[in-house]
Amino acid sequence: RIMMAVATITGFPMDDFSRQAEREAMVETQIIARGVLDPKVLAAMRRVQRHRFVPSDAQAQAYEDHPVHIGYGQTISQPYMVACMTELLNLTPGDRVLEVGTGSGYQTAILAELAGEVVTIERHAALAETAQTRLHELGYDTVTVVHGDGTLGYFERAPYDAVLVTAGSPDIPPALKEQLAEGGRLVCPTGGRDVQRLIKLVRHGDTYRSSEGISCIFVPLVGEAGWPENLPPHHLT
Ligand code: SAM
Repeated sequence: RIMMAVATITGFPMDDFSRQAEREAMVETQIIARGVLDPKVLAAMRRVQRHRFVPSDAQAQAYEDHPVHIGYGQTISQPYMVACMTELLNLTPGDRVLEVGTGSGYQTAILAELAGEVVTIERHAALAETAQTRLHELGYDTVTVVHGDGTLGYFERAPYDAVLVTAGSPDIPPALKEQLAEGGRLVCPTGGRDVQRLIKLVRHGDTYRSSEGISCIFVPLVGEAGWPENLPPHHLT
């Protein structure tokens, strides 16, 4: 009877496999509380079932306030970071978006909720394949998953209204700037290998207006215009 009462108060049945109540708490305590207020972004964060993108042995952590390991030394980013970067992109329904670093595909799904078309690139073939299967099963048919080095962008579908890099880069890769449409927005964690800052660029012709956001800690962007694959030994400690 107590269980029934709890279910009535929260408004969700006790066997709610969509974990809506946890998502609601995540949005309230981790995202709104830290100042991400765009209603469209919040609606997408409430809608996308984050636990569907988290490995089975980490299900309990799906809505916790930190990144979660997804294998291959990679992570699904902290929910707040996903919301914050998405808000910075100011997406509208007709936008074409390029994401560099598919990982689990969770951020891809959030982008697909808000934009017209999403191209996402992942350097680990197995992650790209799993994300593609998952996104397809969840009905995200406006998403194209590409296996490759995203530091070179994806020329075939350029220009993009928005570009999001979800790994830390020493600098903003030049190809990503070139593939940005007029008025396009680019967000990229930029800086050292251990700590970065979110940098946002807005393209106006051949000039790019730059602004600096919060500091963050991302796995490295590894590729031709990112970090080298094999780092010198002093980086490994
Ligand atoms: N957006 C992801 C999510 O929601 O799960 C999280 C991405 S994880 C923090 C960063 C991802 O970037 C990793 O999966 C990593 O393999 C990928 N990555 C790193 N360098 C890359 C590159 N040059 N091209 C494409 N993907 C890259």
